[in-house]
Amino acid sequence: MACVFCNIARGEMKVNTAHQDNFAIAFHDINPQAPVHVLVVPVKHIESLLDLQEEDHQLLGHLHAVAARVARELGVAESGFRVVINTNRDAGQSVNHLHLHLFGGRAMGWPPG
Ligand code: 5GP
Ligand code: ZN
Repeated sequence: MACVFCNIARGEMKVNTAHQDNFAIAFHDINPQAPVHVLVVPVKHIESLLDLQEEDHQLLGHLHAVAARVARELGVAESGFRVVINTNRDAGQSVNHLHLHLFGGRAMGWPPG
């Protein structure tokens, strides 16, 4: 089945890339909700956090390390940032390929809407 984030990870769709390595790609969201809004996506297709396997645990750590690195590079590490994984309907997951949202560059509300 066609998956937009698989296409992006394979380089078949043009995105504004912030980081890329063999296991992950980070790129600017097409519909940003903050001055910095980057998606960190594993190259491996995993539908959601609910589909994480034991063998993916190191990968999930890597995705967070990439988020921290991109936050530093984009200048929001010190001011602060938020990392979010939406899962299923109530959280508003709209792309069924696991991804971290990295938000920064403005004060965030809490609790999240
Ligand atoms: P979700 O709603 O699943 O947590 O997040 C999906 C995110 O992917 C949304 O913020 C949406 O704007 C972003 N998105 C969907 N399609 C594309 C695309 O083709 N390019 C980019 N850069 N972002 C996308
Ligand atoms: Zn995919």
